[in-house]
Parts: sequence; C-alpha cells; structure tokens
Amino acid sequence: MHPNALQTPVTYLKGVGPGRAALLGRELGIDTYQDLLYHFPNRYIDKSRFYKIHELERSNADVQIIGRIVHLKSVEQKRGQRLVATFADDTGEMELVWFRGQKWIQDRLKINEPYVIFGKANWFNGKFSMPHPEMELLSRFQQQKRIRMQPVYPSTEKLGQRGVTNRLIAQWIYKLLEEISAQIPETLPAILMEELHLPGKREALQQVHFPDSQNALARARFRLKFEELFYIQLALLTKKLQRKNRIKGHVFGVVGEQFTRFYEHFLPFELTTAQKRVLKEIRADLGSHAQMNRLLQGDVGSGKTIVAVMAMLLAIDNGFQACLVAPTEILAQQHYQSVRELMDPMGIEVALLTGSVRAKDRKPIHERLREGALPILVGTHAVLEEKVRFANLGLAIIDEQHRFGVAQRAKMWKKNQTPPHILVMTATPIPRTLAMSLYGDLDISVIDQLPPGRKPVRTVHRRDSDRLRVFAFLREQIGLGRQVYIVYPLIQESEALDYKDLMDGYESITREFPPPEYQVSIVHGKMKPEDKEFEMKRFAEGKTQIMVATTVIEVGVNVPNASVMVIESAERFGLSQLHQLRGRVGRGAEQSFCILMSSSRLSEDGKTRLQTMVSTNDGFEIAETDLKLRGPGNLMGTQQSGLLALKIADVVRDKDILQTARYHARKLLDRDPALSLEEHQMIRDKIRRMDIFRNIWDYIS
Ligand code: ADP
Ligand code: MG
Repeated sequence: MHPNALQTPVTYLKGVGPGRAALLGRELGIDTYQDLLYHFPNRYIDKSRFYKIHELERSNADVQIIGRIVHLKSVEQKRGQRLVATFADDTGEMELVWFRGQKWIQDRLKINEPYVIFGKANWFNGKFSMPHPEMELLSRFQQQKRIRMQPVYPSTEKLGQRGVTNRLIAQWIYKLLEEISAQIPETLPAILMEELHLPGKREALQQVHFPDSQNALARARFRLKFEELFYIQLALLTKKLQRKNRIKGHVFGVVGEQFTRFYEHFLPFELTTAQKRVLKEIRADLGSHAQMNRLLQGDVGSGKTIVAVMAMLLAIDNGFQACLVAPTEILAQQHYQSVRELMDPMGIEVALLTGSVRAKDRKPIHERLREGALPILVGTHAVLEEKVRFANLGLAIIDEQHRFGVAQRAKMWKKNQTPPHILVMTATPIPRTLAMSLYGDLDISVIDQLPPGRKPVRTVHRRDSDRLRVFAFLREQIGLGRQVYIVYPLIQESEALDYKDLMDGYESITREFPPPEYQVSIVHGKMKPEDKEFEMKRFAEGKTQIMVATTVIEVGVNVPNASVMVIESAERFGLSQLHQLRGRVGRGAEQSFCILMSSSRLSEDGKTRLQTMVSTNDGFEIAETDLKLRGPGNLMGTQQSGLLALKIADVVRDKDILQTARYHARKLLDRDPALSLEEHQMIRDKIRRMDIFRNIWDYIS
C-alpha cells in the first residue's frame, strides 16, 4: 500500500485487479482509493420507507411495500404468456406482473406469505401494477443487515458491458471504507466544524455513499460541498492576497489637473451614483501600491465609456499613457469617436490604431507612443503587436464585450517593466455567484444603474402569422422618423441556409418597403469591410431607415435614432445574445421596441428564453436564467477556468453554500493571511497541492 493510504492505486483493492483498474481509470478517471471514495452517487434508491398500497401515487418513483400474494394466474397474450399476481396488504390490492421467466418464478412464489416487494408501480387499467418487482420473504428480509438507501453511481456503457455493475462499484466502495476509514484524515479545522455543526470527514464520506437516512445524507452532502467550495475560495483569495503584496503597480497618487478640469467643466452629464461608486473603486486601486486587475461589469448602455475615460485622465495626470482596446474594428472606431468627443475640448490628443490604418499613418503613431508624446491610444488587437511600444503605459482598458480572449490580456501585461493597471470592461453580466467562483481573485465593479431618463425597451413576442401587423407597426414607426433593425440568425453550422434566410428576408423587406420612399441597408459577414462600413455609415447618418443584418451588429454600432429591433427566428438565439441585440435600441429619448419573431413551434427552453426577454430588461436576471438553462459549463469563459470541474458542489444550485464558504474563507484569512498558524498547516499544505489555478492568471503572470 502507498504510504498515504488514499493515494493507493485502486488495483490493490480486493476484487478490482489490473484489468478493471485500467477500465475504471479510462472510463471514470478513477485511479486511486481517493478517486474511488470521491466517486459520489448521483442518486439513491430509498428503501428506508415502506408504502401502503392505498398511499401509492402515480408520481411515485420506486416504492417498497409489505404484503402477500393472494392469487396467481397465467394470462395468455399475443406473444406468449404473462404471469399476474394479486398482491394485497391491509389497505388494498395491486398487481405484480412478469413477462419473462414465469415458470421459474411461479415455482418459487409462496402464496399468502408476507413479502417485501420493491419496484416502480405503474397506474394501469384502473389499478397499480408493478412489473418484475424485486421480492424477498419478509422473514428473510428481517434477518439481514441491509443498506437502506442504495447508492446509484454514475457509470458508462463500457463498464456495464465489462461486468462492472452499480452493485459492484458499491461493494468496492463499501469495502474500501471499511478498510481505510481510520486513515482518512480530517480536512476542515475543528472550530469551523463546530461552528457550522458539520459531520467529520469520515462520517460524511460514509454517509454520502451509504446514508442511514435522508437527513444524514443531507448533512454529509452539505459538509462535502462546503469543503469543496471553501478550499476553492481560500485558494482564490490567497492568490489574490499574494498578487496584491507581490506585484507592484504604478501609483497614481494625485487627482490632478485634467481630471478636475474635466469633472468641473466638460462632464456632459451628471454621473449616476453607480458610475461614481465605480470610479471611486477604481481610484482606490490606482492609488494603492498594487497593480489593479478589475473587471467592470455594466449592462449595455449603462455608461462604461465615461468611466473609462475618467480613469484614463487619472493616468495622464500622473504622467502615464493609457490605451483602450476593443475586439472589433467598428467598436474601436466608435470608441475612438466617443473618446475624442470628450477629449477634444480638453485639448488632449487621442489616436486610433487598427488593422486598417495604413502603414504610413501608423509610423508616426508608433513613434509618438514611444516618445511618450501621445497620451491616449484607442484600437483593436493591432495595439497588441510587438511593434507597438509605449514610453510609459500606466493603464490598459480592455472592452471585451465577451469576445476577447485571455491570451490578449497577457500581451498587454508584457508591454512594460511594471505592468499597467488593467481594467476589463464587459457588457455580459455574470451572475455574482459565478463571478465569485470564476474571478474570485479579480476585483469586480458593477454599474447596476442606467442613466436617468432612459425608457426601458418594450419587448414583445410575435409569431410568423403576425407578420403583417408587425410590418404595419414598422411603417408607423418609420413614419415617425425612427429607424429599424431587422436581425437574422447566423449560426456557423448552417451558414449557407442562414445566408439564404437573410437574403430572402432582405427581398421581402424591400418589397414591403419599396424605394424611393424607403431605403434599406444590408450588412452581413460575407461583405467586404469597406462595403459593410459604407452601409453602416448610411444607416447611422439616417440615410436608410431599415438595417437588415446578421449578428455582426451585435457588437458596436450606436445609432440613438434606431428605436425598433426586430429579431427573426429569435428562438434560435441564446439569451445573452438576445439581450445584447436588444441593447442596440433604447439609446435615444424615444420609446424603443424589441420584437421577437418566432415560428409557432418552440422548444421548452426556447419558450423560456423568449418569455424571459419579454418579462425583464435586467441583464443580471437574464444571465441567471441563462445560467440555469445552459449550466455553468457553457457560460463564456468558464472553459478556461477549470474551476467548475467540481466533484459534488454546483456553483449555481449551491450558491448559498458558496456564500457561506466564501465568508468563512475570508474570515480565516483575515485572522491569518499567510496561513502561518500551526493549526492552519493542514490547510496550507492542501492549498499548495491544489491545481485549480489553470485560470486566467496563469496566462498572464
Ligand atoms: P456602455 O456601458 O454600453 O458602453 P456607453 O458608455 O456607451 O454605455 O453609454 C451609453 C450612452 O449613455 C452614451 O450615449 C452616454 O453618453 C450616455 N450616458 C452615460 N452615462 C450617462 C449619465 N450618467 N447620464 C446621462 N447619459 C449618460
Ligand atoms: Mg460600450
């Protein structure tokens, strides 16, 4: 055996052997005793309770009943026979049915003797009927010590084929627990277990596999989930503390001339409370000695740009340069425009650097950046190229709109000796609980308030059969001087079909809205960038009233006069995408509308998505629903984190436990930030061995 019993390879367990050990490894990733102990059941067959026949309900899963067979007969049917027993207790009667092996069964069944039966009772022809029940004479049943709640383990087809049944796995685990229980160390501090009334590790493992009762099971599961989340939180928080202590940042000590000038004379509107709060958070970071790594979340239209610009002014006031990087050309241009609008009156120079800036225009930009003569650069990934060197980059703002990869952030980091402060802006609301586990070591600011006077977008769901009414509505809105987006899905797998849909749509729109009265723009991925640009521009300038497009418009474009968003085949879009699209309207003073078109046949999920869109404008609420529908594994960015490969906890369903775990992890670190106390040695060692840090900061530092 391995010196550490838990690390012993499973092949040493009696009855496993090398062949099955290899199979367990391949199929379930079970290599060691510990892996086997952590192979948790995903459900249990509850034999802790006995039902009376009159208590049976059609919704019952498996039930266990004590009664007697009062009558037994063979019934002829089309193919062969079936054996039917009338089974009774003191409350009623039901049927037991066998379709196979009747002879064998008939010979062994005892009439009028008490049996314990177990199985699924179906409602059939006015009574309950249980096919092929498990049965045992009550007298025998009572003699045996038995497992009352049977674990059912996740498994694979291959394992089944090779004779590794659920029963066998359960037996192995049972044996293993008997064998090494005494050697399983406690892995939570005693104080914590006391405070939270948690069962010990051994007890919890025993009960999670072979529970004595539902209650014992619940306690065991809580303890194991808590432990799992507690260590992740501890690890993330520790890492963050270390980063703050180790990685020095530029200190933006002064709130200087430019910031104050802007605030007093050029601020185009009063900041919202949320914007002010976030600015304060950013300022506190920038003024500290640690490098800032902050995620700024704010729904579309919540006003992130002004916050970014003011943070850049802080950098400038302290003698540093700042840059703002966007994921697409269009978005970079739009940022460039808005930043210039704000900075021109201040006399602060801003340059744009994207892939389409010509080489001869690039050169002076490169030079002036290197000399430190250019204070603000806006651009795309072109900014990340090796050639682009700053004299003293103090702040890098990345507008990711959920498109930007972590690798790019890493490049930002390499631009200076001392890394610049980094602010990542995202319009994809990440539910707080998830953000906590994903970005536990990132500071998070949230703009959770829209600028005043914004009218919430009114959203409706319409069927294809309502199309004429929808057209009439569009005509009316255009008559009022508004502009309209009509968006078609574009999904990689069926690009050709989607393209056809788009073109058909475009044709029918131009028929319904003919020139010269109406002008229709079209933009899609197959167009040349110049043509796209040209069409976008025409629409933005109000020269066309309708923009037919694929999701290329999801990111970017800000046309305040566009007040209607029609989304075709809306059921094919994900929730976050629908929300992003809707964010394209509602930017001006007028009441805006979002019309979700769908066919009349919708999947359950599709229906939920559309209903969610109709019922709320709150990005966080939408993100929560999205998370529930798709599961955390599919959410943006989670694949990289590896954090969600949890054994027993679920960051969505167990978010209360997550909060508790985080609270206690914090408390422990407040008391002992370096985990240097004797009593925390076990924790320190455990965290050191954890390999959950395959998350974003590994790409960076
Ligand atoms: P996003 O968070 O989507 O990037 P923007 O920064 O583009 O949002 O802001 C959306 C619009 O709201 C812009 O036209 C901006 O000028 C305006 N805006 C931002 N903050 C305020 C505010 N506090 N009061 C009024 N308008 C604001
Ligand atoms: Mg923006």
